[in-house]
Amino acid sequence: MEIKFNNPFGVEGNWFKGNLHTHTKNSDGTLPPEDTVAQYKEAGYHFLALTDHCKLTKVEGNHGVLLIPGEELHCGITEAKTNFHLLGFDLKQEIVYSGDEVVVLKKKWWEVHPQEMIDLVKSQGGEINLAHPYWSALTTNDIFSCKGYIGTEVFNTSCHPSVDKAYSMTYWDNMLAAGRNVYGFAVDDAHNHFNDHRWNDACGSWIMVKSKKLALRDIMDSIKKGLFYASWGPEIKDVKINGNSLYVATSLVKTISFISFNGYGEMFSALKKEPLKEAEYKIHGKEKYIRIQCADTQGRMAWSNAIFLE
Ligand SMILES: [Zn+2]
Ligand SMILES: [Zn+2]
Repeated sequence: MEIKFNNPFGVEGNWFKGNLHTHTKNSDGTLPPEDTVAQYKEAGYHFLALTDHCKLTKVEGNHGVLLIPGEELHCGITEAKTNFHLLGFDLKQEIVYSGDEVVVLKKKWWEVHPQEMIDLVKSQGGEINLAHPYWSALTTNDIFSCKGYIGTEVFNTSCHPSVDKAYSMTYWDNMLAAGRNVYGFAVDDAHNHFNDHRWNDACGSWIMVKSKKLALRDIMDSIKKGLFYASWGPEIKDVKINGNSLYVATSLVKTISFISFNGYGEMFSALKKEPLKEAEYKIHGKEKYIRIQCADTQGRMAWSNAIFLE
């Protein structure tokens, strides 16, 4: 049995907090771009992607946050007749939409197959995340109709207080079970929309990236290697593989789960009064993949990327 895992806890570097999905007044967000960046700086984020719909938002000057150029790209038609939202980041140039048209492809945006959009972004050195698969009502056929996306949103803050569709774990597990090593991202999709029965969607979730330094190429290199975990609350403090066991240490939580293929894996719950802060899982060898997720007493969760067994 060979274990494949780029363990962020096993490499040198520092932890940097970031959000890769954010809207501003340039599309359907509330705040101007500069104010949005300042908001994330204030909340302790180190990097941020402004990803307005079908538009690359640029901010002049240094606002104390590393900005990753991004754009939320609408394309295709899903089985349920919704559209794909692909989160393009580390873009080198804008994918320009003019009216209904994706200019460089000379097609209506809904006539652009998601694979064509993924290939376009990757050809310029960018990456794609599958945005909010649950909210988009994607089917299994939809998620396997294209490949090459580096990750999927496993948690989307905005989809939580708006329509209670924040979690997309099942989609992610479908990908992992099929042998696709796709990473899990927690993102805000912040619009700064809120009201008297809806909390704000800004600064609510993040990824923690282990990187040598806070610079675009270093952060992107680490993301490409999967050297991060995702959270909207708990901290993952350590992950270790000791022979045939997988160990995790966390902040105080109520459950720690080792999620795996089929009926493999195991959940550890704090049945006594004391919360959990670590767990160890004995690897059987038939799991195909194992990822760690935990939940605190308020239900907030964190997710590691998956280790693969071969
Ligand atoms: Zn979207
Ligand atoms: Zn969005």
